[in-house]
Amino acid sequence: MSNSPPQDSGRIGTVYLVGAGPGDPDLLTLRAARLLAAAELVVHDGLVDPAIMAMIPAGARLVSVAKSRARHTLQQHEINALLVREALAGHDVIRLKGGDPFVFGRGGEEAEACYAAGVPVQVVPGVSAAMGAAAAAQIPLTHRENASIVSFVAGQCKGLSEQNWAGLAGVGRTLVIYMGVATSEAIAEKLMADGLAPDMPVAVIENAARPSMRVLRGALAGLGALVEEQKVKSPALIVIGEVTARERAQELQKIAETAA
Ligand code: SAH
Repeated sequence: MSNSPPQDSGRIGTVYLVGAGPGDPDLLTLRAARLLAAAELVVHDGLVDPAIMAMIPAGARLVSVAKSRARHTLQQHEINALLVREALAGHDVIRLKGGDPFVFGRGGEEAEACYAAGVPVQVVPGVSAAMGAAAAAQIPLTHRENASIVSFVAGQCKGLSEQNWAGLAGVGRTLVIYMGVATSEAIAEKLMADGLAPDMPVAVIENAARPSMRVLRGALAGLGALVEEQKVKSPALIVIGEVTARERAQELQKIAETAA
């Protein structure tokens, strides 16, 4: 192959893009757990729970590409180059990511860098934060009575103001916003300007599927204040839609029945 440097063994390693799920090791796929248990080189980001990191054999080489103020943070193109370099040197690389590699995980960019270099890639799906948070908070993302459409949107992306939010949330649909804590107020205002009712129910799920999980509920108009007053920190998801009020509605109904 023209773009592969000569190697002694001629072996090219495989890059495994592995989803680590939202935190709880029980939510790893069996394939991810098997790969981690046999790993020799793991390139991981900062969202991966310590309990999952503990599944990696002691002798394995660990490379953190987590964002850090203390040291130089690798740019995405440098991470891509690292994966390719290690694979071309004959090493299998476990690229471990929070949630699912192909949902706001830049897995697509890493896979493309590998394709371009002739490096084989395997993708192991993970439980994305939306599914992990929905399960942990018992908020169904779809429900025959409330929602038949679910959208996953990044709250922080190139040009939030240019993002077209019209039609993403409303009656009959659920909107899940990743990376939206810092911009929650602006998002709520934009959605209301697009005609969404100020009393549309919302939930904020912080640290989903981790012992420190918090589930906060409110209405769209109060989303910014809720996030600020409760000092919500990343990682957190915002869910907008009637499904977020179902559990509460049931609770209220139970209370009413008990009182009657
Ligand atoms: N690939 C990941 C998403 C990475 S983007 C996935 O599929 O889940 C990072 C964002 O994911 C965070 O800003 C947050 O919005 C969300 N997130 C990740 N883990 C989370 C968790 N345990 N609880 C709540 N939100 C989480």
